[in-house]
Amino acid sequence: MASIQKKVCLLGDFAVGKTSLVRRFVEGIFEDKYLSTIGAKIDRKEMSIHHASLTLLIWDLAGGEKFNRVVHSYYRGAAGAILVCDVTRLETLGSLEHYAHDFRSVNPGAPFVIVGNKTDLADERRISDTELDSIAAKLSASWFAGSAKTGENVETVFRTLGESLVECEK
Ligand code: GDP
Ligand code: MG
Repeated sequence: MASIQKKVCLLGDFAVGKTSLVRRFVEGIFEDKYLSTIGAKIDRKEMSIHHASLTLLIWDLAGGEKFNRVVHSYYRGAAGAILVCDVTRLETLGSLEHYAHDFRSVNPGAPFVIVGNKTDLADERRISDTELDSIAAKLSASWFAGSAKTGENVETVFRTLGESLVECEK
């Protein structure tokens, strides 16, 4: 069985739920408090995809420092990225294009998966499926709406990126 290891980055504005999505995926838990991320935290998770064993090295970056040089050094060597917005805050959607552009300037052609996170807050939702679909088309990415809190689509998001990475190996 082929064994592959890939670095992936979580990108998105402050408090969109990057750290929560990683925790849900890696540890299967959600905590309703702000998990302050300083610099970058790296988690490791193994998954099996199409008879390959894929180890994801998941780089969770602190948000808010959109376009500086430090971030570029985090991006180096990454094979793909998960772009996260918070469906209750419209401005977090617009930021994704900047992250995507920056990331692909370091890693051209790297696959993206977009997540509209916090769908459990249905009454406060400000970003529609149509808007997610439209930005995903622009960035040639897949997209999902989901929730780190309920776990909706979290596994699917990481699996979809994993499948693209295994595909890239072929
Ligand atoms: P980060 O800055 O992008 O890493 O964001 P965090 O993962 O630290 O989450 C920011 C805040 O949003 C925290 O208070 C989380 O508990 C909350 N949060 C994250 N994901 C969800 C979600 O899916 N639903 C809800 N209701 N809250 C969430
Ligand atoms: Mg964080």
